[in-house]
Amino acid sequence: MIRYALSCDHEHEFEGWFGSSGDYDDQQARGLLECPMCGSKGVRKQIMAPAVAGTKRTAREAPPAQTQAMMMEAAGRIRRHVQENFDDVGDAFAREARAIHEGKAEDRGIYGQATPKEVRELVEDGVPVAPLPPEPAKKTELN
Ligand SMILES: [Zn+2]
Repeated sequence: MIRYALSCDHEHEFEGWFGSSGDYDDQQARGLLECPMCGSKGVRKQIMAPAVAGTKRTAREAPPAQTQAMMMEAAGRIRRHVQENFDDVGDAFAREARAIHEGKAEDRGIYGQATPKEVRELVEDGVPVAPLPPEPAKKTELN
């Protein structure tokens, strides 16, 4: 069932229930709709303003642009955390990650560069690696 807010040509406002939007069109076309207050058949759907119903979470949902900015912000924080707390091993990443995994190097957090092939081999061997979020494309001063 669909509820429509209707009004007649005398500005009386009332509600009508229909099985579908086609039902409304059909009844309207056959002149079956009339105002319960004045009997006018000049009944039309009221223009509905956009509305949000449901949970507070839905109502407060951030617009996409803002969500993206927040995600970039979070990615930047993760990246900063890694850069401040993990060892930069550069392009020795794959070798070093494997050495740590096999207990041949000091167990610590590292980051660096690896080729997709190296990453795939590490993952296949059960070495926990994860991509670092990309540098936020923001115009911030370096250093
Ligand atoms: Zn009316």
